[in-house]
Amino acid sequence: MKHYLDYNATAPLRPEVIAVMQECLGLPLNASSIHAAGRKAKTLIEDSRRALAGTLGAFANEVVFTASGTEANNWVLRRLRMLPVCVSAIEHSSVLKTAQAITVPDVIPVTKEGIIDLAALEQLPEGEPFLLSLMLANNETGIIQPVREAADIVHARGGLLHCDAVQAFGKIPVDFTALGCDLMTISGHKMGGPVGAAALIVKNGLAFAPMLTGGGQEMNRRAGTENVAAIAGFAKAAALVDFASMKTLRGWLNALEAEVEKASGGTAVIFGGRAERLPNTSLIAMPGVSSETQLIHFDLDGIGVSAGSACSSGRIEPSHVLEAMGVEEALAGSALRISGGWATVEGDVRAAAKAWKAMAATRAK
Ligand code: PLP
Repeated sequence: MKHYLDYNATAPLRPEVIAVMQECLGLPLNASSIHAAGRKAKTLIEDSRRALAGTLGAFANEVVFTASGTEANNWVLRRLRMLPVCVSAIEHSSVLKTAQAITVPDVIPVTKEGIIDLAALEQLPEGEPFLLSLMLANNETGIIQPVREAADIVHARGGLLHCDAVQAFGKIPVDFTALGCDLMTISGHKMGGPVGAAALIVKNGLAFAPMLTGGGQEMNRRAGTENVAAIAGFAKAAALVDFASMKTLRGWLNALEAEVEKASGGTAVIFGGRAERLPNTSLIAMPGVSSETQLIHFDLDGIGVSAGSACSSGRIEPSHVLEAMGVEEALAGSALRISGGWATVEGDVRAAAKAWKAMAATRAK
């Protein structure tokens, strides 16, 4: 693949991460063993925990490693199922479908701009414990949610806030404490770390049942021999995050959006164009050309992009995110997501702009 622009699906591993992981993979690392190799494993895990906590404004003992963001999200919803559950309408399927599997959640709508309707949150009854799960940034549009404001509203009503920060972490600064979260999910593979390492941040003092029981790993919260290589790789990726290059990426994407709009004669739609967005994401609809057709066109040009959410086993399903934003089905069915990251160069974004313009020209004939 000449131009990989699907970082919101998964990011390529950073070479420094591969080096750290290779070193670990060559060793027998079980952190429960007392011998030198076991102690090394323990040190690698605890150093990674401290490093990640430091980047997140959390305490080290609040960081619990899991195997995926999906696992962490399931943990929250399934262990707090005794509470009434509220979710925003644009949550990732690992939140939305899990909430729907365990209860009938109160689905909080979003505005046309793709932002949670805080006025609807204000309608929730006061003094009753409940859980709100709200993402920090949406995986399809990149639109950033007002998590701090939501946390204040939720806490004033006696509720708990879980924030799915999987897409935001590594792309914008994320501070667990400043955002007022009780629980937060992060994942390694969206930002240059490996698949298989993620974490749930659990605020100290919160009564919260373990994910898995058995051994005493992860402070008795998630039993099972730790994946030391993946955990160390995750921490390495977090240490290498560079927000300045993310800003540069936003500049390239903004230029692409302007070009595509112009080439389409003003018919292309940039979702969230006026909202606060992740610096790496553009979701653009070209009316009249299906997402599938666009994807194939891009693929033939060696450009890897995605049609909205790619999380459902290769199938393109209607986007529940665009539907929640009131976007009509036909327009939503012509949306394409470009998402870049640490290895993206301007040439990748230029190649995407060129492919889009060629498509717009064909359509105009
Ligand atoms: N939450 C969001 C917002 C996501 O975009 C994703 C993956 O696409 C997940 C959760 C799931 O994370 P993981 O792939 O680590 O299970």
